Amino acid sequence: MIVTIDGPAGSGKSTAARKLAARLEIPYLDTGAMYRAIAYEVLRQGVDPHDEAAVLGIAQSIDLDLDCGPTHTRVRVNGHDVSEAVRTMQVSQVTSSVAKNPAVRKLLVEQQRRVGAKLGSFVTEGRDQGSVVFPQADFRFVLEADLEKRAQRRYQELIADGEDVTLSEVADNLRARDLVDSKQWEPLLRDESAIVIDTTHLRIHEVVDRMHEHLRL
Ligand code: C5P
Repeated sequence: MIVTIDGPAGSGKSTAARKLAARLEIPYLDTGAMYRAIAYEVLRQGVDPHDEAAVLGIAQSIDLDLDCGPTHTRVRVNGHDVSEAVRTMQVSQVTSSVAKNPAVRKLLVEQQRRVGAKLGSFVTEGRDQGSVVFPQADFRFVLEADLEKRAQRRYQELIADGEDVTLSEVADNLRARDLVDSKQWEPLLRDESAIVIDTTHLRIHEVVDRMHEHLRL
């Protein structure tokens, strides 16, 4: 079974995808972590994120390895586990620029399909999973939520990770990412047959329950 969950940052898709995968006892693929891993390496090597050729060079040269379990996706770059390091605000800021790069997207889409073929059954989350990468998926979900609610969720996550940020910085970051992302993936998301769930007023277990109900129908 292939289940895709797409939506903007803070829509709750990562937590929902992990919990749904755990409930179904199948692996979970976090494709945002792949874009983040390249952004992390771009920052580490001091490359200009807008230099498309240089960013592609990094994407082509690194060994990006994913370990997908039902409750986690661990990401390794050249053998180093960067799963936590890629979650910072600084990496988030650079990631949208990296994700705009068509050649990088092509490379990662191919890798996602290879990972998917190996896994067989899985829950995957990102921006383009149902519309572009796995249009043949059995179930395609799109999660949405108000910006204010998404900012609050992301802020709580970052604070829990020990980051020194304010709610308004997080909201500004999401607004900026939404703007860049919307040019990139919003047109891709227009998928008439995807199941849309507004998570603004839902608790995470209610989101997972709703998705699970669709799977059982
Ligand atoms: O989901 P997450 O916030 O970790 O994604 C980080 C960024 O990676 C997004 O803001 C988006 O720019 C990019 N992304 C993408 N396509 C995906 C997953 C993530 O463009 N499938």
